[in-house]
Amino acid sequence: MNRALIDKLEETSHLTKEEWITLIERRSQDTAEYLFGKARKWQKKYYGNKVYTRGLIEFTNYCKNDCYYCGIRRSSPNAQRYRLTREQIMECCREGYELGFRTFVLQGGEDGWFSQRTLEEVVRSIKENFPDCAITLSIGERSYESYEGLFQAGADRYLLRHETADPKHYRKLHPSELSLRQRKDCLYQLKKIGYQTGTGFMVGSPGQTAQCLAEDMIFIRELEPHMVGIGPFVPHHETPFAQEPGGTVELTLFMIGLLRVMLPKLLLPATTALGTIDPLGREKGIQAGANVVMPNLSPVSVRKKYELYDNKICTGDEAAECRMCLNQRMKNIGYELVVDRGDFPDHL
Ligand code: SAH
Repeated sequence: MNRALIDKLEETSHLTKEEWITLIERRSQDTAEYLFGKARKWQKKYYGNKVYTRGLIEFTNYCKNDCYYCGIRRSSPNAQRYRLTREQIMECCREGYELGFRTFVLQGGEDGWFSQRTLEEVVRSIKENFPDCAITLSIGERSYESYEGLFQAGADRYLLRHETADPKHYRKLHPSELSLRQRKDCLYQLKKIGYQTGTGFMVGSPGQTAQCLAEDMIFIRELEPHMVGIGPFVPHHETPFAQEPGGTVELTLFMIGLLRVMLPKLLLPATTALGTIDPLGREKGIQAGANVVMPNLSPVSVRKKYELYDNKICTGDEAAECRMCLNQRMKNIGYELVVDRGDFPDHL
């Protein structure tokens, strides 16, 4: 039954909501293995054994939003706030470039201190200094004009996870000033402007059901993004969800496999959150169909402060150590980290 649904997904890239729910609720070790076999076949077809890297620069942990799951939400009482200077950001890129990174991801809370002009200047100077590199932004919801200005300044890609595509569930995870409609609109705008666009969701966030995950898959099929970042929800001790259970490795891997089979060319990271709840999480993610890793390039002095969730890995390691460690980890499972921008196959 479930194998037939996986075959149908592979052939048509569409399932009905009921079929998604069945596939997710009745999954077993056996169907997972069947799924991962297919996922790896598609991963191999488009990417061989290559794994792309993105250097993550967490440049501010100030945030005006108050998402209930997030450790750097506005009302986190003990978050030690920081902002990197433009010089510090450039230094991260220089170090990253030396290490072989050809994509820089600038991620942060929604921090109004960085004006549109400052952000455009940062993007422009990275592009000037590293013309062979791609820039990904992950700085939340902004106006169409702002997204357009940043694109014109040279940003290539944008990550904005929708977090959950089920409106009721969205309400459970966010305060009333945030809306799923708005989040989705941003994603359609980003695509329209020409960004390689990434969405995604947390697996096992409080109140999530198979129905919510079905909605996520249906929304992603409709949006057709270039990237999808998913990772387990991991509780943060100072948020309203401190006592909630986290997501599992098993379900996260299953969802990665489904994404690869539904949209075979996707750029799919094996996330840090997955590596946090399982020492071999990122390796397992790659073996389930992921093809990207995103090690941290932020200065070690601020790493611990960008604490989205508890026990985040690699907060004490230099960028070079992270790169070498991942290099080895990928080799161990027969994959290879490459020095490459790692664009979406059809996007030139
Ligand atoms: N402000 C940016 C970046 C958010 S941080 C934005 O709005 O897009 C990047 C991602 O971390 C979020 O999209 C969310 O999915 C994830 N995240 C936040 N808190 C988390 C937690 N407790 N466990 C797992 N992932 C979390």
